[in-house]
Amino acid sequence: MSRSAHPAGPRHADVLTEGHYAAPPADLNALDEKVWARTVSRDDDGAVTVGGIEVTRLAEEFGTPAYFLDESDFRARCRAWADAFGPDADVFYAGKAFLSRAVVRWLKEEGLNLDVCSGGELTTALDAGMPAERIAFHGNNKTVAEIERAVRAGVGRIVLDSFQEIVRVSHIAQQLGRRQRVQIRVTVGVEAHTHEFIATAHEDQKFGIALAGGQAAEAVRRALTLDGLELVGIHSHIGSQIFDMAGFEVSARRVVQLLTEVRDEHGVELPEIDLGGGLGIAYTSDDDPREPHEIAKALGDIVSRECEAAGLATPRISVEPGRAIVGPTAFTLYEVGTVKHLEGLRTYVSVDGGMSDNIRTALYDAEYSVALVSRRSDAEPMLVRVVGKHCESGDIVVKDAFLPSDLAPGDLIAVPATGAYCRSMASNYNHALRPPVVAVRDGEARVIVRRETEEDLLRLDVG
Ligand SMILES: *Cc1c(COP(=O)(O)O)cnc(C)c1O
Repeated sequence: MSRSAHPAGPRHADVLTEGHYAAPPADLNALDEKVWARTVSRDDDGAVTVGGIEVTRLAEEFGTPAYFLDESDFRARCRAWADAFGPDADVFYAGKAFLSRAVVRWLKEEGLNLDVCSGGELTTALDAGMPAERIAFHGNNKTVAEIERAVRAGVGRIVLDSFQEIVRVSHIAQQLGRRQRVQIRVTVGVEAHTHEFIATAHEDQKFGIALAGGQAAEAVRRALTLDGLELVGIHSHIGSQIFDMAGFEVSARRVVQLLTEVRDEHGVELPEIDLGGGLGIAYTSDDDPREPHEIAKALGDIVSRECEAAGLATPRISVEPGRAIVGPTAFTLYEVGTVKHLEGLRTYVSVDGGMSDNIRTALYDAEYSVALVSRRSDAEPMLVRVVGKHCESGDIVVKDAFLPSDLAPGDLIAVPATGAYCRSMASNYNHALRPPVVAVRDGEARVIVRRETEEDLLRLDVG
Protein backbone atom coordinates (compact mmCIF):
# COMPACT_ATOMS: atom_id res chain seq x y z
CA MET A 1 0.00 0.00 0.00
CA SER A 2 1.06 3.57 -0.47
CA ARG A 3 2.14 5.24 2.69
CA SER A 4 2.33 8.92 3.48
CA ALA A 5 4.83 10.44 5.86
CA HIS A 6 1.97 11.60 8.05
CA PRO A 7 -1.31 9.98 8.84
CA ALA A 8 -4.33 11.44 7.16
CA GLY A 9 -6.84 13.21 9.36
CA PRO A 10 -6.28 15.20 12.52
CA ARG A 11 -2.88 15.06 14.15
CA HIS A 12 -1.87 15.68 17.69
CA ALA A 13 1.45 16.82 19.00
CA ASP A 14 0.91 15.03 22.31
CA VAL A 15 -0.02 11.77 20.71
CA LEU A 16 2.33 11.83 17.79
CA THR A 17 5.43 12.23 19.90
CA GLU A 18 4.66 9.07 21.84
CA GLY A 19 6.23 5.77 20.72
CA HIS A 20 4.13 3.74 18.36
CA TYR A 21 1.68 6.53 17.66
CA ALA A 22 4.43 8.58 16.07
CA ALA A 23 3.86 6.86 12.74
CA PRO A 24 1.29 4.46 11.37
CA PRO A 25 2.28 0.83 11.00
CA ALA A 26 3.68 -0.16 7.60
CA ASP A 27 0.57 -2.16 6.71
CA LEU A 28 -2.76 -1.63 8.46
CA ASN A 29 -4.01 -4.94 7.10
CA ALA A 30 -1.27 -6.90 8.86
CA LEU A 31 -2.24 -8.57 12.15
CA ASP A 32 0.65 -8.69 14.59
CA GLU A 33 0.71 -12.24 15.96
CA LYS A 34 1.98 -10.91 19.27
CA VAL A 35 -1.38 -9.31 20.08
CA TRP A 36 -3.82 -11.61 18.29
CA ALA A 37 -4.96 -15.08 19.31
CA ARG A 38 -3.05 -17.81 17.53
CA THR A 39 -5.62 -18.93 14.97
CA VAL A 40 -6.49 -15.38 13.87
CA SER A 41 -5.43 -14.54 10.34
CA ARG A 42 -6.53 -12.51 7.34
CA ASP A 43 -7.56 -14.58 4.33
CA ASP A 44 -7.07 -13.78 0.65
CA ASP A 45 -10.35 -11.89 0.43
CA GLY A 46 -9.20 -9.62 3.23
CA ALA A 47 -11.62 -10.80 5.86
CA VAL A 48 -10.26 -11.95 9.18
CA THR A 49 -10.88 -15.47 10.46
CA VAL A 50 -10.51 -17.09 13.87
CA GLY A 51 -10.49 -20.85 14.30
CA GLY A 52 -11.19 -21.02 10.57
CA ILE A 53 -14.39 -18.95 10.72
CA GLU A 54 -14.77 -15.51 9.16
CA VAL A 55 -15.55 -12.79 11.68
CA THR A 56 -18.24 -11.43 9.36
CA ARG A 57 -20.05 -14.77 9.72
CA LEU A 58 -19.53 -14.70 13.48
CA ALA A 59 -21.01 -11.20 13.63
CA GLU A 60 -24.07 -12.34 11.69
CA GLU A 61 -24.61 -15.33 13.91
CA PHE A 62 -23.78 -13.90 17.34
CA GLY A 63 -24.14 -10.15 16.90
CA THR A 64 -21.88 -7.40 18.19
CA PRO A 65 -20.34 -6.47 20.51
CA ALA A 66 -19.10 -9.94 21.39
CA TYR A 67 -15.97 -11.57 22.72
CA PHE A 68 -14.53 -14.39 20.61
CA LEU A 69 -12.22 -16.74 22.45
CA ASP A 70 -9.77 -19.01 20.65
CA GLU A 71 -10.16 -22.25 22.58
CA SER A 72 -7.16 -24.04 21.08
CA ASP A 73 -4.97 -21.05 21.94
CA PHE A 74 -6.30 -21.08 25.51
CA ARG A 75 -5.56 -24.77 25.86
CA ALA A 76 -2.11 -24.39 24.27
CA ARG A 77 -1.23 -21.64 26.74
CA CYS A 78 -2.36 -23.81 29.66
CA ARG A 79 -0.13 -26.60 28.42
CA ALA A 80 2.80 -24.25 27.85
CA TRP A 81 2.58 -23.08 31.48
CA ALA A 82 2.14 -26.59 32.86
CA ASP A 83 5.03 -27.95 30.76
CA ALA A 84 7.31 -25.03 31.61
CA PHE A 85 6.86 -25.49 35.36
CA GLY A 86 6.85 -29.28 35.22
CA PRO A 87 5.65 -31.87 37.72
CA ASP A 88 7.43 -30.31 40.70
CA ALA A 89 5.47 -27.05 40.55
CA ASP A 90 1.83 -26.04 40.32
CA VAL A 91 0.14 -23.61 37.95
CA PHE A 92 -3.03 -22.00 39.26
CA TYR A 93 -5.12 -20.11 36.70
CA ALA A 94 -6.41 -16.89 38.32
CA GLY A 95 -10.13 -17.20 37.73
CA LYS A 96 -10.84 -13.52 38.23
CA ALA A 97 -9.30 -12.79 34.80
CA PHE A 98 -12.19 -14.67 33.17
CA LEU A 99 -14.15 -17.60 34.53
CA SER A 100 -16.95 -19.71 33.12
CA ARG A 101 -17.86 -23.36 33.41
CA ALA A 102 -16.36 -24.15 30.00
CA VAL A 103 -13.09 -22.52 31.08
CA VAL A 104 -13.08 -24.59 34.28
CA ARG A 105 -13.46 -27.78 32.24
CA TRP A 106 -10.61 -26.78 29.91
CA LEU A 107 -8.38 -26.08 32.91
CA LYS A 108 -9.28 -29.40 34.44
CA GLU A 109 -8.55 -31.24 31.20
CA GLU A 110 -5.24 -29.45 30.71
CA GLY A 111 -4.07 -30.23 34.23
CA LEU A 112 -4.16 -26.74 35.73
CA ASN A 113 -5.33 -25.69 39.16
CA LEU A 114 -7.61 -22.75 39.87
CA ASP A 115 -7.54 -19.65 42.06
CA VAL A 116 -10.87 -18.20 43.16
CA CYS A 117 -11.49 -15.09 45.21
CA SER A 118 -15.23 -15.12 45.90
CA GLY A 119 -18.13 -17.41 46.62
CA GLY A 120 -19.38 -16.90 43.06
CA GLU A 121 -16.09 -18.03 41.54
CA LEU A 122 -15.97 -20.98 43.95
CA THR A 123 -19.49 -22.03 42.93
CA THR A 124 -18.59 -21.84 39.23
CA ALA A 125 -15.45 -23.92 39.80
CA LEU A 126 -17.18 -26.62 41.82
CA ASP A 127 -20.24 -26.73 39.58
CA ALA A 128 -18.05 -27.39 36.55
CA GLY A 129 -16.34 -30.22 38.35
CA MET A 130 -12.98 -28.81 39.35
CA PRO A 131 -11.78 -31.07 42.17
CA ALA A 132 -11.80 -29.02 45.38
CA GLU A 133 -8.24 -29.96 46.25
CA ARG A 134 -7.10 -28.18 43.06
CA ILE A 135 -8.74 -24.91 44.13
CA ALA A 136 -7.06 -22.13 46.14
CA PHE A 137 -9.17 -19.44 47.76
CA HIS A 138 -7.79 -15.90 48.06
CA GLY A 139 -9.00 -12.47 49.02
CA ASN A 140 -8.53 -9.83 51.67
CA ASN A 141 -12.03 -10.08 53.11
CA LYS A 142 -13.58 -13.47 52.60
CA THR A 143 -16.88 -13.65 54.42
CA VAL A 144 -17.55 -16.21 57.12
CA ALA A 145 -20.08 -17.87 54.80
CA GLU A 146 -17.51 -18.07 52.00
CA ILE A 147 -14.87 -19.55 54.29
CA GLU A 148 -17.35 -22.12 55.58
CA ARG A 149 -18.26 -23.18 52.05
CA ALA A 150 -14.62 -23.41 51.04
CA VAL A 151 -13.63 -25.49 54.08
CA ARG A 152 -16.68 -27.73 53.72
CA ALA A 153 -15.94 -28.24 50.02
CA GLY A 154 -12.37 -29.20 50.92
CA VAL A 155 -10.46 -26.62 48.90
CA GLY A 156 -6.77 -27.38 48.59
CA ARG A 157 -5.70 -24.23 50.33
CA ILE A 158 -6.97 -20.98 51.71
CA VAL A 159 -4.62 -18.04 51.48
CA LEU A 160 -4.77 -16.17 54.78
CA ASP A 161 -4.66 -12.44 54.28
CA SER A 162 -4.78 -10.91 57.78
CA PHE A 163 -4.33 -11.67 61.47
CA GLN A 164 -8.07 -11.72 61.94
CA GLU A 165 -8.48 -14.21 59.13
CA ILE A 166 -5.93 -16.57 60.67
CA VAL A 167 -8.15 -16.91 63.72
CA ARG A 168 -11.38 -16.89 61.70
CA VAL A 169 -10.37 -19.72 59.34
CA SER A 170 -8.97 -21.81 62.18
CA HIS A 171 -12.16 -21.35 64.17
CA ILE A 172 -14.40 -22.32 61.25
CA ALA A 173 -12.27 -25.34 60.37
CA GLN A 174 -12.37 -26.55 63.97
CA GLN A 175 -16.13 -26.13 64.16
CA LEU A 176 -16.41 -28.26 61.03
CA GLY A 177 -14.00 -30.81 62.43
CA ARG A 178 -11.41 -30.05 59.76
CA ARG A 179 -7.79 -29.05 59.56
CA GLN A 180 -7.52 -26.61 56.63
CA ARG A 181 -4.36 -26.34 54.54
CA VAL A 182 -3.38 -22.68 54.37
CA GLN A 183 -0.72 -20.32 53.11
CA ILE A 184 -0.02 -16.87 54.51
CA ARG A 185 0.00 -13.99 52.06
CA VAL A 186 2.87 -11.64 52.74
CA THR A 187 3.70 -8.25 51.27
CA VAL A 188 7.36 -8.39 50.40
CA GLY A 189 8.00 -4.69 49.97
CA VAL A 190 7.87 -4.76 46.19
CA GLU A 191 5.01 -3.54 44.11
CA ALA A 192 5.49 -4.22 40.44
CA HIS A 193 3.52 -2.84 37.55
CA THR A 194 4.16 -2.43 33.89
CA HIS A 195 7.86 -2.03 33.10
CA GLU A 196 8.91 -1.11 36.62
CA PHE A 197 8.87 -2.06 40.24
CA ILE A 198 8.65 0.17 43.21
CA ALA A 199 10.49 -0.79 46.35
CA THR A 200 8.86 1.71 48.70
CA ALA A 201 5.33 2.51 49.81
CA HIS A 202 4.18 -0.99 48.94
CA GLU A 203 3.13 -2.01 52.41
CA ASP A 204 0.46 0.66 52.30
CA GLN A 205 -2.18 -1.62 50.77
CA LYS A 206 -5.10 -3.75 51.79
CA PHE A 207 -3.61 -7.12 50.83
CA GLY A 208 -1.43 -9.38 52.93
CA ILE A 209 0.77 -9.18 56.00
CA ALA A 210 4.02 -7.23 55.83
CA LEU A 211 7.36 -8.99 56.07
CA ALA A 212 8.68 -5.72 57.42
CA GLY A 213 8.67 -5.26 61.18
CA GLY A 214 8.35 -9.00 61.78
CA GLN A 215 4.59 -9.02 61.07
CA ALA A 216 4.69 -12.03 58.75
CA ALA A 217 6.91 -13.95 61.19
CA GLU A 218 4.33 -13.25 63.89
CA ALA A 219 1.54 -14.48 61.60
CA VAL A 220 3.44 -17.74 61.06
CA ARG A 221 3.92 -18.08 64.84
CA ARG A 222 0.16 -17.76 65.40
CA ALA A 223 -0.86 -20.01 62.49
CA LEU A 224 1.46 -22.78 63.71
CA THR A 225 -0.24 -22.85 67.10
CA LEU A 226 -3.84 -23.10 65.85
CA ASP A 227 -5.40 -26.54 65.62
CA GLY A 228 -7.70 -25.72 62.72
CA LEU A 229 -4.82 -24.86 60.38
CA GLU A 230 -2.12 -26.75 58.56
CA LEU A 231 0.33 -24.08 57.44
CA VAL A 232 1.95 -25.28 54.20
CA GLY A 233 3.54 -22.20 52.74
CA ILE A 234 4.00 -18.52 52.06
CA HIS A 235 2.25 -16.60 49.31
CA SER A 236 3.25 -13.40 47.54
CA HIS A 237 1.67 -11.55 44.61
CA ILE A 238 3.47 -8.39 43.58
CA GLY A 239 1.39 -6.71 40.88
CA SER A 240 0.09 -6.96 37.36
CA GLN A 241 1.19 -6.67 33.73
CA ILE A 242 4.83 -7.19 34.77
CA PHE A 243 7.56 -7.72 32.18
CA ASP A 244 10.63 -7.31 34.37
CA MET A 245 11.66 -10.39 36.35
CA ALA A 246 13.56 -8.26 38.88
CA GLY A 247 10.48 -7.74 41.05
CA PHE A 248 9.91 -11.51 41.23
CA GLU A 249 13.57 -12.00 42.15
CA VAL A 250 13.31 -9.66 45.12
CA SER A 251 10.03 -11.25 46.12
CA ALA A 252 11.38 -14.82 45.91
CA ARG A 253 14.48 -13.87 47.87
CA ARG A 254 12.46 -12.30 50.67
CA VAL A 255 10.00 -15.19 50.87
CA VAL A 256 12.88 -17.68 51.12
CA GLN A 257 14.38 -15.49 53.84
CA LEU A 258 11.14 -15.86 55.80
CA LEU A 259 11.20 -19.66 55.28
CA THR A 260 14.71 -19.64 56.71
CA GLU A 261 13.61 -17.67 59.77
CA VAL A 262 10.69 -20.05 60.27
CA ARG A 263 13.03 -23.03 60.10
CA ASP A 264 15.43 -21.43 62.57
CA GLU A 265 12.71 -20.45 65.03
CA HIS A 266 10.32 -23.40 64.82
CA GLY A 267 12.33 -26.20 63.26
CA VAL A 268 9.69 -26.38 60.52
CA GLU A 269 10.47 -26.24 56.81
CA LEU A 270 7.34 -24.97 55.04
CA PRO A 271 7.00 -27.03 51.84
CA GLU A 272 5.43 -24.48 49.46
CA ILE A 273 5.93 -20.99 48.11
CA ASP A 274 3.50 -19.26 45.80
CA LEU A 275 4.90 -16.36 43.78
CA GLY A 276 1.54 -15.15 42.48
CA GLY A 277 0.63 -13.95 39.00
CA GLY A 278 0.95 -10.68 37.19
CA LEU A 279 2.91 -11.72 34.12
CA GLY A 280 2.47 -9.23 31.30
CA ILE A 281 1.03 -9.76 27.81
CA ALA A 282 1.25 -7.79 24.56
CA TYR A 283 -1.60 -5.32 24.18
CA THR A 284 0.25 -3.46 21.45
CA SER A 285 3.20 -4.31 19.23
CA ASP A 286 5.46 -2.42 21.65
CA ASP A 287 5.04 -5.01 24.41
CA ASP A 288 7.44 -7.95 24.65
CA PRO A 289 6.16 -10.52 27.12
CA ARG A 290 8.26 -13.39 28.46
CA GLU A 291 7.52 -16.96 27.46
CA PRO A 292 6.39 -19.34 30.24
CA HIS A 293 9.58 -21.40 30.01
CA GLU A 294 11.74 -18.29 30.55
CA ILE A 295 9.63 -17.32 33.55
CA ALA A 296 9.75 -20.84 34.98
CA LYS A 297 13.51 -20.98 34.58
CA ALA A 298 14.08 -17.56 36.12
CA LEU A 299 11.86 -18.28 39.12
CA GLY A 300 13.16 -21.82 39.60
CA ASP A 301 16.77 -20.63 39.48
CA ILE A 302 16.25 -17.87 42.03
CA VAL A 303 14.41 -20.09 44.48
CA SER A 304 16.86 -22.99 44.28
CA ARG A 305 19.85 -20.64 44.57
CA GLU A 306 18.45 -18.90 47.63
CA CYS A 307 17.38 -22.15 49.27
CA GLU A 308 20.73 -23.75 48.66
CA ALA A 309 22.47 -20.77 50.26
CA ALA A 310 20.17 -21.08 53.29
CA GLY A 311 20.47 -24.86 53.52
CA LEU A 312 16.76 -25.34 52.88
CA ALA A 313 15.17 -28.07 50.78
CA THR A 314 13.72 -26.38 47.69
CA PRO A 315 10.00 -25.86 48.30
CA ARG A 316 7.32 -26.63 45.74
CA ILE A 317 6.74 -23.46 43.70
CA SER A 318 3.37 -22.33 42.46
CA VAL A 319 2.40 -19.46 40.17
CA GLU A 320 -0.96 -17.90 39.35
CA PRO A 321 -1.13 -16.50 35.83
CA GLY A 322 -4.54 -15.16 34.82
CA ARG A 323 -3.99 -12.52 32.17
CA ALA A 324 -1.03 -14.37 30.62
CA ILE A 325 -3.25 -17.36 29.83
CA VAL A 326 -6.60 -15.91 28.81
CA GLY A 327 -5.69 -12.34 27.85
CA PRO A 328 -4.24 -12.97 24.40
CA THR A 329 -6.82 -15.62 23.45
CA ALA A 330 -9.81 -13.34 22.88
CA PHE A 331 -10.78 -10.23 20.96
CA THR A 332 -13.84 -8.02 21.14
CA LEU A 333 -15.74 -7.52 17.91
CA TYR A 334 -17.58 -4.23 17.45
CA GLU A 335 -19.57 -2.60 14.69
CA VAL A 336 -18.70 0.97 13.80
CA GLY A 337 -21.68 3.27 14.30
CA THR A 338 -20.41 6.76 13.64
CA VAL A 339 -17.16 8.36 12.52
CA LYS A 340 -16.75 11.97 13.58
CA HIS A 341 -13.89 14.07 12.23
CA LEU A 342 -13.06 17.13 14.33
CA GLU A 343 -10.86 19.21 12.11
CA GLY A 344 -7.53 19.96 13.79
CA LEU A 345 -8.51 17.92 16.84
CA ARG A 346 -9.27 14.26 16.52
CA THR A 347 -11.34 11.58 14.81
CA TYR A 348 -13.77 9.65 17.01
CA VAL A 349 -14.90 6.21 15.94
CA SER A 350 -17.94 5.14 17.99
CA VAL A 351 -18.71 1.47 18.44
CA ASP A 352 -21.70 -0.45 19.77
CA GLY A 353 -20.06 -1.29 23.12
CA GLY A 354 -17.58 0.59 25.29
CA MET A 355 -16.72 0.92 28.95
CA SER A 356 -19.40 -1.64 29.87
CA ASP A 357 -17.45 -4.37 28.06
CA ASN A 358 -13.95 -2.96 28.55
CA ILE A 359 -13.42 -0.75 31.58
CA ARG A 360 -9.64 -1.10 31.57
CA THR A 361 -8.91 1.92 29.39
CA ALA A 362 -10.99 4.19 31.62
CA LEU A 363 -9.83 2.54 34.84
CA TYR A 364 -6.09 2.12 34.25
CA ASP A 365 -5.35 4.12 31.14
CA ALA A 366 -4.72 0.75 29.49
CA GLU A 367 -3.47 0.63 25.91
CA TYR A 368 -5.05 -1.49 23.20
CA SER A 369 -4.68 -2.09 19.49
CA VAL A 370 -7.51 -2.23 16.97
CA ALA A 371 -7.97 -3.42 13.39
CA LEU A 372 -10.56 -3.30 10.65
CA VAL A 373 -11.51 -6.97 10.28
CA SER A 374 -14.53 -7.20 7.97
CA ARG A 375 -12.53 -6.29 4.86
CA ARG A 376 -9.10 -5.14 3.86
CA SER A 377 -8.41 -1.52 3.01
CA ASP A 378 -5.58 0.21 1.26
CA ALA A 379 -6.79 3.68 2.21
CA GLU A 380 -4.42 6.04 4.02
CA PRO A 381 -4.10 5.49 7.76
CA MET A 382 -5.91 7.91 10.04
CA LEU A 383 -5.28 8.42 13.72
CA VAL A 384 -8.46 7.76 15.69
CA ARG A 385 -9.87 7.36 19.16
CA VAL A 386 -12.24 4.41 19.50
CA VAL A 387 -15.05 5.24 21.91
CA GLY A 388 -18.16 3.53 23.19
CA LYS A 389 -21.84 4.45 23.28
CA HIS A 390 -22.06 5.30 26.99
CA CYS A 391 -22.98 8.62 28.58
CA GLU A 392 -19.48 9.37 29.77
CA SER A 393 -16.65 11.22 28.01
CA GLY A 394 -14.18 8.82 29.58
CA ASP A 395 -15.87 5.97 27.72
CA ILE A 396 -12.79 5.18 25.64
CA VAL A 397 -11.92 1.74 24.29
CA VAL A 398 -8.70 2.55 22.42
CA LYS A 399 -7.13 5.90 23.17
CA ASP A 400 -5.06 6.33 20.03
CA ALA A 401 -4.72 3.99 17.10
CA PHE A 402 -4.54 3.98 13.33
CA LEU A 403 -7.40 2.73 11.18
CA PRO A 404 -7.95 3.14 7.44
CA SER A 405 -9.36 6.54 6.49
CA ASP A 406 -12.21 4.96 4.50
CA LEU A 407 -13.63 3.46 7.70
CA ALA A 408 -17.41 3.72 7.61
CA PRO A 409 -20.50 2.85 9.63
CA GLY A 410 -21.18 -0.87 9.39
CA ASP A 411 -17.50 -1.85 9.30
CA LEU A 412 -16.44 -4.38 11.90
CA ILE A 413 -13.42 -3.58 14.00
CA ALA A 414 -11.79 -5.83 16.59
CA VAL A 415 -9.77 -5.07 19.69
CA PRO A 416 -7.34 -7.90 20.47
CA ALA A 417 -6.07 -9.15 23.85
CA THR A 418 -9.39 -8.61 25.64
CA GLY A 419 -9.61 -12.09 27.17
CA ALA A 420 -8.63 -10.94 30.66
CA TYR A 421 -10.46 -8.45 32.88
CA CYS A 422 -12.94 -7.35 30.21
CA ARG A 423 -15.92 -9.72 30.43
CA SER A 424 -15.09 -10.35 34.08
CA MET A 425 -15.29 -6.62 34.84
CA ALA A 426 -18.19 -5.90 32.49
CA SER A 427 -21.09 -3.84 33.81
CA ASN A 428 -24.65 -2.95 32.92
CA TYR A 429 -23.93 0.78 32.84
CA ASN A 430 -26.71 2.53 30.88
CA HIS A 431 -28.50 -0.82 31.09
CA ALA A 432 -26.10 -2.20 28.52
CA LEU A 433 -26.52 -5.91 27.90
CA ARG A 434 -23.26 -7.66 28.68
CA PRO A 435 -21.86 -9.30 25.53
CA PRO A 436 -21.56 -13.04 25.02
CA VAL A 437 -18.33 -15.00 25.06
CA VAL A 438 -18.12 -17.30 22.07
CA ALA A 439 -15.50 -20.05 22.00
CA VAL A 440 -14.17 -20.81 18.54
CA ARG A 441 -12.27 -23.96 17.69
CA ASP A 442 -11.61 -25.93 14.49
CA GLY A 443 -14.33 -24.30 12.44
CA GLU A 444 -16.94 -24.42 15.20
CA ALA A 445 -18.25 -21.57 17.32
CA ARG A 446 -20.10 -22.13 20.57
CA VAL A 447 -21.54 -19.65 23.07
CA ILE A 448 -20.02 -20.28 26.51
CA VAL A 449 -21.51 -17.20 28.19
CA ARG A 450 -24.66 -15.96 26.48
CA ARG A 451 -25.52 -12.37 25.76
CA GLU A 452 -27.66 -10.72 28.40
CA THR A 453 -31.18 -9.85 27.37
CA GLU A 454 -33.54 -7.10 28.40
CA GLU A 455 -35.54 -9.79 30.22
CA ASP A 456 -32.42 -10.47 32.33
CA LEU A 457 -32.37 -6.80 33.33
CA LEU A 458 -36.06 -6.76 34.15
CA ARG A 459 -35.84 -10.00 36.12
CA LEU A 460 -33.48 -8.38 38.63
CA ASP A 461 -35.65 -5.28 38.84
CA VAL A 462 -38.43 -6.59 41.05
CA GLY A 463 -40.48 -3.41 40.88
C1 LIG B 1 -5.03 -11.01 40.29
C2 LIG B 1 -4.23 -12.06 40.92
C3 LIG B 1 -3.53 -12.98 40.12
C4 LIG B 1 -3.55 -12.93 38.62
O1 LIG B 1 -2.98 -11.80 38.11
P1 LIG B 1 -2.72 -11.70 36.52
O2 LIG B 1 -2.19 -10.34 36.33
O3 LIG B 1 -4.02 -11.92 35.85
O4 LIG B 1 -1.73 -12.78 36.19
C5 LIG B 1 -2.83 -13.99 40.75
N1 LIG B 1 -2.79 -14.09 42.11
C6 LIG B 1 -3.45 -13.21 42.89
C7 LIG B 1 -3.37 -13.38 44.36
C8 LIG B 1 -4.17 -12.17 42.34
O5 LIG B 1 -4.81 -11.32 43.13
